[in-house]
Amino acid sequence: MHDAGVDRRSFLSASVSLLLCGSAGAGGANPVAAAKTYAFEKAAWFDGHAFRAGAFYSVGGVLTFDRPGKVDEFVDLRGGYVVPPFAEAHNHNIEPRPKLAEVIRRYLTDGIFYVKVPANPPRAKVALQDLINKRDSIDVVFSNGCLTATGGHPMPLGQRNLERSGRAEDWAEGRFYFTIDGVEDLERKWPQVLESKPDFIKVLLQYSEEYGLRHANPLFNDWSGLNPAIVPLVVERAHAAGLRVSCHIETAADFHNALVAGVDEINHMPGLRPDRNDWVDVQIERYRISKADAELAARSGTVVVTTFVTAIARIDKANAGEAFREWRELLIWNLRVLKEAGVALAVGSDRYSDTAVAEAFALHSLGVFSNSELLRMWCDTSARTIFPGRKIGALREGYEASFLVLSGNPLSDFNAVRGIGRRFKQGQFIEM
Ligand SMILES: [Zn+2]
Repeated sequence: MHDAGVDRRSFLSASVSLLLCGSAGAGGANPVAAAKTYAFEKAAWFDGHAFRAGAFYSVGGVLTFDRPGKVDEFVDLRGGYVVPPFAEAHNHNIEPRPKLAEVIRRYLTDGIFYVKVPANPPRAKVALQDLINKRDSIDVVFSNGCLTATGGHPMPLGQRNLERSGRAEDWAEGRFYFTIDGVEDLERKWPQVLESKPDFIKVLLQYSEEYGLRHANPLFNDWSGLNPAIVPLVVERAHAAGLRVSCHIETAADFHNALVAGVDEINHMPGLRPDRNDWVDVQIERYRISKADAELAARSGTVVVTTFVTAIARIDKANAGEAFREWRELLIWNLRVLKEAGVALAVGSDRYSDTAVAEAFALHSLGVFSNSELLRMWCDTSARTIFPGRKIGALREGYEASFLVLSGNPLSDFNAVRGIGRRFKQGQFIEM
């Protein structure tokens, strides 16, 4: 939600029915092809740490290393490097919009099979159901409307879209966002939240250490969020409904408040951007994650979704007088303190015009992670935080038979993740 260069106005007039018609005949899942048994030979497959030689098989869409009695097709992978599919743990670009088919194609081209959308017009999930979540497309989960407080992020975005003749059913309160200013609001609106059938719940904390000062204060329009005392109550209700909770954060205090509230996933890291995008007068220490909080995140099993690409791009074109060096060091400190504590880190870009490829390369540029660590974050942790109930993210016995074949070894050169030769999803090749 921070891709300032994108004007979402142009997407509001998308004709959903046209979109759906346009995709008819593109080819849905073919159950006959899916049932085919494949033997994959002459490849090296990623075991989460290194590449191993040896054949593997797809039987009924499930991966196995035990040779089945009957094989329909032997596939010579010509020395390719096989990795699990990549994932995008934070993006808003899957919504009813013209050229959605191109966006989906770009994800598949990038080798990204799983996408998480934390805050969207609730219509998206229903309107797009024929285009996504099938064997030859990307699999997507949606939070639908997110929970914030009056004046909090992203309420002004919803209001702006309404003023620009966006549909009320998409952007109004109770649709794109819910304002929860107290327990009464939560009790009254929670049934409405559940009614939209979200895949998970998205809540927002933003400078929560100053909630009293910022709440509904026009000086801090779009730079506040929920009262942190509300978040544990949301988590309790969400968990009772079988839903995980993702929490937007910006400061180290938000990070702490999200953790003690018991959220399952933290979106963004302190260092995403300075207060009100003022890059000159920054308070670095406000964004530094403490070792104690990093250890708490690790103990709680809370997944942290990075979304640093925009900050890194901003640092790269900093002006004189801006605290870009200190900021870059802050990003490295925060990633390192989480990594050393053993926190599960997922790769999400939050870039409307991009995919998680941009985030993976941005993280790579900071030099905090080895290529192997980065691959695990991108394939495994990211996929599991999107679909925690599925056997995906690793090349393991009994997991979904989904993978990418790279022509080069990404452990020796990370650029190899761009050289995808073939894509295989749930038992069949994706033809591009
Ligand atoms: Zn976002």
